[in-house]
Amino acid sequence: MKKSTKLVTAGRDKKWTQGLVNPPVTRASTVVFDSVKEMKQATAQRHNKTLFYGRRGTQTHFAFQEAMVEIEGGEGCALYPCGTAAISGALLSFLKQGDHLLMVDTAYEPTRDLCDKLLKGYGIETTYYDPMIGAGISELIQSNTKVIFLESPGSLTMEVQDSPAIVAAARAAEQDIVVMLDNTWASPLNFSPFDFDIDISIQAATKYIVGHSDVMLGTAVANKRCWDQLRENSYLLGQCTSPDDIYLAMRGLRTLGVRLAQHQKNALEVAKWLAERDEVDHVRHPALASCPGHEFFQRDFQGSSGLFSFVMKGGNQQALTALLDGMQHFKMGFSWGGFESLIMGVNGVDKLRTATQWQAEGTLIRVHIGLEDPADLIEDLAAGIARFSQQL
Ligand SMILES: *Cc1c(COP(=O)(O)O)cnc(C)c1O
Repeated sequence: MKKSTKLVTAGRDKKWTQGLVNPPVTRASTVVFDSVKEMKQATAQRHNKTLFYGRRGTQTHFAFQEAMVEIEGGEGCALYPCGTAAISGALLSFLKQGDHLLMVDTAYEPTRDLCDKLLKGYGIETTYYDPMIGAGISELIQSNTKVIFLESPGSLTMEVQDSPAIVAAARAAEQDIVVMLDNTWASPLNFSPFDFDIDISIQAATKYIVGHSDVMLGTAVANKRCWDQLRENSYLLGQCTSPDDIYLAMRGLRTLGVRLAQHQKNALEVAKWLAERDEVDHVRHPALASCPGHEFFQRDFQGSSGLFSFVMKGGNQQALTALLDGMQHFKMGFSWGGFESLIMGVNGVDKLRTATQWQAEGTLIRVHIGLEDPADLIEDLAAGIARFSQQL
């Protein structure tokens, strides 16, 4: 079955939908039992999508968990109140005092802060690695390395990683290493982690899965080897989600394919237009050759999405502010993946890198291209670039 068909059918078993098109929102804390036998049976089955206690989920959650596994692959899906909780939940489920973590240098900022603050305090050591390291990561693997974490493309600077080479290095190590990927940019549609033997795929479902900028939600889908440990440890951490939010995420899944196709088309049009501008140094869109790791994007991904960055030649804070402040269609905001276009100036990316250095001289800008007509977005950017240039 093709992924676009799965987006329509996934998680719609009658045991969840009760014969409706969509699984209803089922709220619960307490589940009541009429007999000792019934309670014992429910206890024995509590891991297997049966009603036991609200924290373990209701039919609404079970339907979404099943849908995520049908679409992304793997064995089971753990749910979290946001993407950041999915990242911390997955890492804390597999790391303990004395362990070593290999973290990509271009990780999402809160992921980096988690390593430098919380994990460090727990006696878990992090080594950051160059996103372009590929097979060279084997030299950084220590006897106590337990997790290798990828985010591809990288936050803000969009480097695409050679995931198969990194997985191969992990598998060649003497100990078991869990390979985790923050797969948010690609969504479950444009990169298939389990085809690459990645163990755990994390989504900030807040972004494209929900798709309407109105729900915080995270998922971590694990393969058979890692599912029991991820599920049980995330449960111990008390992670659970509202059925109303899950309902909206499930609704988002149904249109994920058509939305992403349009985000991709619009973003490519805008990115190619930017690449032609004299004022632009280069564009960091994985589908363009000017993006580091473009060859891995072409080899491993099924498509691109709406988020990318570009570097203006030169500039200063005044020029950047002039560009940003006059925008009509692009609003400034952090959380992307909704239907609307966003823009953000990125200051101080060099402070977020320790294994590598940010080389570009100019002004880094990140955009999320929404579902507006790209002609309107291009007009908006053209006017912004003119304001930028006037300040130089
Ligand atoms: C937004 C984002 C997150 C965090 O998701 P939240 O739901 O906002 O906590 C994690 N990783 C990436 C790549 C993101 O873009």
